[in-house]
Amino acid sequence: MKKVKQTKLKGIGVSQGIAIGKAFVVKRGRISIPYYLLWNEEAREEECRRFEEAVREVENEFLKLKQSIRSDLQEYASLLDVYCMILRDHLIYDETLRLIRHKGLNVLWALNVTMEKVRKIFESVDDTCLLDRMSDVGSVVDRVMRRLSGQHQSIFSTITERAILVTHDLSPADAVQLQLEKVMAFVLDMGGRTSHTAIIASSLDIPAVVATERATKEICPGDLLIVDGTSGDVIIRPDESTIQEYVELQFSLESYLREISRQAPHLAITKDGHRIRVEANVELLEDVVLAKDNGAEGIGLYRTEFAFMNREDFPTEEELYQDYRQMAELMAPHSVTIRTLDIGAEKLSPWLPLPPETNPALGLRSVRLCLKYPEIFKMQLRAILRAGAGLKNVRLMFPLVSGIGELRVLKVLVRETKEELQRKRIPFDEDMPVGIMVEVPSAVAVADLLASEVDFFSIGTNDLIQYTLAVDRHNEYVAHMFESLHPALLRMIKFTVDAAHKAGIPVSLCGEMSGEPFYVPVLLGLDVDVLSMNAQSIPRVKNLIRRSSRVECRKFVENMLLMKTASDINRALKELVACQFPEEYNFFKSGFPDPGEIIYEKR
Ligand code: PEP
Ligand code: MG
Repeated sequence: MKKVKQTKLKGIGVSQGIAIGKAFVVKRGRISIPYYLLWNEEAREEECRRFEEAVREVENEFLKLKQSIRSDLQEYASLLDVYCMILRDHLIYDETLRLIRHKGLNVLWALNVTMEKVRKIFESVDDTCLLDRMSDVGSVVDRVMRRLSGQHQSIFSTITERAILVTHDLSPADAVQLQLEKVMAFVLDMGGRTSHTAIIASSLDIPAVVATERATKEICPGDLLIVDGTSGDVIIRPDESTIQEYVELQFSLESYLREISRQAPHLAITKDGHRIRVEANVELLEDVVLAKDNGAEGIGLYRTEFAFMNREDFPTEEELYQDYRQMAELMAPHSVTIRTLDIGAEKLSPWLPLPPETNPALGLRSVRLCLKYPEIFKMQLRAILRAGAGLKNVRLMFPLVSGIGELRVLKVLVRETKEELQRKRIPFDEDMPVGIMVEVPSAVAVADLLASEVDFFSIGTNDLIQYTLAVDRHNEYVAHMFESLHPALLRMIKFTVDAAHKAGIPVSLCGEMSGEPFYVPVLLGLDVDVLSMNAQSIPRVKNLIRRSSRVECRKFVENMLLMKTASDINRALKELVACQFPEEYNFFKSGFPDPGEIIYEKR
């Protein structure tokens, strides 16, 4: 019998905003996978043909979808290219054919075996980005299976009136088939912060909650829902007073965010006249559109490895050059900071098999890997140096630099690359600024020395916290210890900024800390010059900068640096934020980054 009482589900809020509406629940039936063997060669060849035809049909479907994609989803067209690549990936395509041809497995069983093998490979690497890729592989294979078993009509296209979409998982191919104007919010069983649904929802400004685990089980079609994309709360069958409370909250939150977005294109200047540049972190060329719309005053971090990761083969210099050049042209006169390949550890690429390592985060990754393969590295350097020719807005940045010795070798490679371009009379930017990411504790300790040999610093707090606190950034068991407000980290940022300023170079901060609006007083008080972050956070961060006084932030930080624990600092910051930015605090306090409690288990 249908339950009528109000209940609540907790997930992860990945796209801010509140939606109140009826549930449209999509449950996809499981495909039954028969097991039987094909004994004669003819039958096996026929089965191979069936598989090849299904792959071709799905491929055509993706290509058609790509052509019909809405203009505001154009940036996801490239995901459909990734899907086409997955379809033809030898681990899936060739392996399935091999199992049919040589083992006589029927096509659905063979595809299922292939999928399990791929899953095992992915699961051996502990990385959320890769897990998201695994869900792409799952969606693609699911589509081929549905085609093979005659169940390929999209249920997602049957959403006819405005509703909240509740489903187990949502692939970009499903998303682009949806009539998105009918979707008031997304509620998913699966997903994480970096999942495609999260990216699509936040770029379209549709509230979304993922990782609820049980939404499709608990919610019935037509149930009234309240979805809070900030706190991650999903209220099922809310009572009158809860509805009233959320209607009021929704109205005021929407007008607050609208007002903030209107101000986003303007500069971020504090009440006492100090300008902070706010830039965007991007992973693909397509991300520039949202960055510009949200008021980015430059690209502070272009994570170039993603263009290397989502492909089977190695990119050519020309492809890289075109990509970087287009980004520089789109952003001019603002600057574009291109970070050289930060591949290795959790970021893997099919064309670069790495040896198994006991400690990949401390192993052959990033610039260390580039120094092992200088030809690959120089090809990227040529593309970057050429991209800045004439425009002069491109900056070159090295990740994971650990000290002066390493920096000097990297600079020799830059010099050699420039000489090579000069000899070949290929235009490039001779004066391109060269900077480093400060994300290894040893780089902080010698920040004064490094500052005298580079043009800028960019602090990468994601890795700096990981290496300083010895807390794996991808390990859920120690996630509570990943404390952005740990006194050790704050002292390190202070030390780095002071060293940079003494040498007369600017410092930006491009780790996730930058995109957390509640940290604005801390980062302003620590005298960071530029904040670079995910594009969705820019309007809120710029708004809080305008409401801050740098003098007061410095006073706060002076006191904060005397505090002994992250919890003390967090408490003081909460008080400050609640008092200085009451509106922001009230709307978003449920997402306030709490320091975890250190766990002591009594035995
Ligand atoms: C960082 O480490 O803070 C950073 C910005 O780089 P990434 O997250 O790409 O390692
Ligand atoms: Mg890093």
